[in-house]
Amino acid sequence: MIEISRQKPKFRFAPSPNGPLHLGHALSAILNHEMAAKAGGDFLLRIEDIDQARCTPDFEAGIFADLAWLGLRWQEPVRRQSEHFPAYQEALQALIGRGLVYPAFLTRGEVKARVTAFEAGGRPWPRDPDGTPLYPPDDRKRDGAERQRLLEAGLRHAWRLDMEKAMAATNGPLHWRESGDGERGDIAADPAAWGDVVLSRSDAPSSYHLSVVVDDAVQGITHVVRGLDLFHATSIHRLLQTLLGLPEPLYHHHRLVLDSDGRKLSKSMGDTGIAEWRRQGLSPAELRRRIGL
Ligand code: GLU
Repeated sequence: MIEISRQKPKFRFAPSPNGPLHLGHALSAILNHEMAAKAGGDFLLRIEDIDQARCTPDFEAGIFADLAWLGLRWQEPVRRQSEHFPAYQEALQALIGRGLVYPAFLTRGEVKARVTAFEAGGRPWPRDPDGTPLYPPDDRKRDGAERQRLLEAGLRHAWRLDMEKAMAATNGPLHWRESGDGERGDIAADPAAWGDVVLSRSDAPSSYHLSVVVDDAVQGITHVVRGLDLFHATSIHRLLQTLLGLPEPLYHHHRLVLDSDGRKLSKSMGDTGIAEWRRQGLSPAELRRRIGL
């Protein structure tokens, strides 16, 4: 059961237009739509297109067409992340100003080489809940003068959260309220498991984590309903919300739609796309049955 707060309930479906929507997205969109209707709230659509190299207008048009075909109606205007980079920059600057974020100069290749060399010694390099190696501590340890020198030299860099300092800046442990298909109730957040998460890259001015918390706040989202694959990312979102003084939504992480081999669907698997389903002449009702609704 979704709890209803005194504010007008606001739900959002927030896909990235970097591929065709699949049946997992259909489940997420339909659940958001139904829960919003049940709660007497709004259903919002957000286009998460910060990765301008992979997101295209065609995929975005496909999202609108797929959702309309499913019979869903969303509130206008649609928020498009690429139109709000200054808002994410402002949040980043606030964290930089408090010394909670540092410039990170190692390239992906350098990190990979470091991890490979370390693991050749027989011990695993620590990884985050998604299995990505944690960022090495080199840049975090630099003193202010050296950071300044490297920045002034014009070296390409990302901005990463100093997890230890960020945790120290919160008043005690963080939690979130969860009503989804996995663990429920009061969940203890564990942001430290993610290490020094990236908040902005040289080629993308904001990360998923930073823009999602800013947008949920700006859009007044009260209920975040999304797949269980983002359950652990909620720890980072709670930390960023706390650091930036943003409100805490309720969370509902729903089951994932799996393919016939029991694997999570991905956008590269065209055969499980909503558009392909439509092209084959199948109906929205049949699609709902396939995803167990
Ligand atoms: N844009 C994310 C995705 O397509 C979803 C983000 C969210 O719901 O928080 O997986």
